[in-house]
Amino acid sequence: MPEKIADAVQPDAWYEALPRPQYATLEAVEQPDPWFSVYRLPCDVYAIYEPGHFQEVISYLVLGGEKALLIDTGMGMGNIKKVVDFLTDKPLVVVNTHSHFDHIGCNWMFEKVHIYNHPGAIRRMKEGLTHQEVEDNLKPGSNWIPYPDDFVPEEYAIKPCNYQPIENGHQFDLGGRVLTAFNTPGHSPDSIMLADDANKLLFTGDTFYPATLYAHLDSHDGLKSVIDTYKKTMEEVAAKYGDYTLICSHNEPMREGKTLGQVADAFAAIEAGDLPYQEDENHLKKYTFDGFCIVTL
Ligand SMILES: [Zn+2]
Repeated sequence: MPEKIADAVQPDAWYEALPRPQYATLEAVEQPDPWFSVYRLPCDVYAIYEPGHFQEVISYLVLGGEKALLIDTGMGMGNIKKVVDFLTDKPLVVVNTHSHFDHIGCNWMFEKVHIYNHPGAIRRMKEGLTHQEVEDNLKPGSNWIPYPDDFVPEEYAIKPCNYQPIENGHQFDLGGRVLTAFNTPGHSPDSIMLADDANKLLFTGDTFYPATLYAHLDSHDGLKSVIDTYKKTMEEVAAKYGDYTLICSHNEPMREGKTLGQVADAFAAIEAGDLPYQEDENHLKKYTFDGFCIVTL
């Protein structure tokens, strides 16, 4: 019998795990919006972290010789544009790792946002998400840092934005620095990773981060998780990027590339069917591994 837990996704008092240890090893960078914490990573990358909300999403600013690339725009609670404008005066290119609300919140503030060419993702760019679609994220206990002064929870929604679809293999040339985007379906069908091959960095979006991986998401608009696809994606990226540094979109920024193989193995073990798991009130199953968990239907 599985152990019963209340919520496989959001544990009570999640914030007691903060500050997460890796941040003590990173240089904190001054910036103008207290909703965010910004840290300098190697190779001219800034991590733009939102530790005040349970999602603990991290967006990234990557500096090239001529342009800068913003990877994701956060929850849409703080003003990430103000932060980015403070950090760089280079011309800015913006891309989403996928169209989940916590990665596209400030899209509307930018001239144009690149997104993988998937019909569900394109619809979200055109239509945004309503208050009803995101209000779950405002339930008591979701934030432990007060929301920004000008954030109105009752009006929280994701606004539409101007967008540019990209295909598999799209290259962002920032001047002396190229990032290649490629589709990594599983967590969602529109997910991408971005490889900076010269620096051996892999921006993993939500396909991998060092926390609870979501392989259970359902959606009415074709953007649901598919566990078999997720497993196949992890096997492919583990074979190719095992010696890269992973730059992850939630909780803590960096992990070693060998972790990708551990996640691929974890999916194989779940599929084999004899692993212990916990089960929550919605019958979601949570499997716990060394350094990450996986939630499935
Ligand atoms: Zn996601």
